[in-house]
Amino acid sequence: MIQLKNVSKIYRTKNGEISAVNDVNLSINKGEIFGIIGYSGAGKSTLIRLLNGLEKPTDGTVEVNGQLISSITGNKLRVARQKISMIFQHFNLLWSRTVADNIAFPLEIAGIAKTERDKKVKELIDLVGLSGRENAYPSQLSGGQKQRVGIARALANNPEVLLCDEATSALDPETTDSILELLLDINKRLGLTIVLITHEMHVIKKICNRVAVMEAGRVVEQGEVLQVFQNP
Ligand code: ADP
Ligand code: ADP
Repeated sequence: MIQLKNVSKIYRTKNGEISAVNDVNLSINKGEIFGIIGYSGAGKSTLIRLLNGLEKPTDGTVEVNGQLISSITGNKLRVARQKISMIFQHFNLLWSRTVADNIAFPLEIAGIAKTERDKKVKELIDLVGLSGRENAYPSQLSGGQKQRVGIARALANNPEVLLCDEATSALDPETTDSILELLLDINKRLGLTIVLITHEMHVIKKICNRVAVMEAGRVVEQGEVLQVFQNP
């Protein structure tokens, strides 16, 4: 489903070169929940931007869902990216739009007609457990509810892959657990492949099948969660 081969990303800044991702090889299966863990600056966000085609690698290839994301551009990339969704630490909701209108937004962009849009939005609101809140504004929601809107919006275009960028880092432990359970439920029900980046080990332990540990741009270890995190 996702294949990274010898992927490197070097940023050129006025203070010199920064090797953000360094010769990374990863293979993620369809329907898997794959975790990427590492401290701040390890290269996790850069890796996720390479996975969704927001950045091009300096070297190597990134394949997602049968498409060579690292080479395609323009309309082809735009279409491929509709199947690669993302949720964020700070939710990135539109504050002047209601819950329902936030979720409808990607459907509007995709040119889906209003009747079909409304039906899909209702389905998504039920799926993430926000029934009754469709007309609320983001500022009226708790952190966990905001992330549920983020998840519903991310699922609107029936993606093949969901990328989670520190998606629970702004939430308290209890809310974190409820969001992780929702992700697990969605993974099971829709067979969605989930890639999750985090600096928190308990997040990985709770829902991931496999994990890659990043340090200074490199994957220093990868494998089954139990095997990578077993205590000696
Ligand atoms: P993480 O998500 O694990 O915190 P990042 O991918 O954000 O790591 O950053 C990895 C390294 O790349 C850091 O040294 C960071 O400062 C650098 N970096 C990230 N994005 C850019 C950019 N757009 N330009 C220059 N350097 C960057
Ligand atoms: P958190 O409380 O999790 O830090 P915030 O609620 O402060 O998150 O903000 C979440 C995101 O929404 C941020 O990217 C912020 O810039 C943006 N944001 C916050 N308030 C507004 C607003 N009134 N209008 C537009 N964007 C906003």
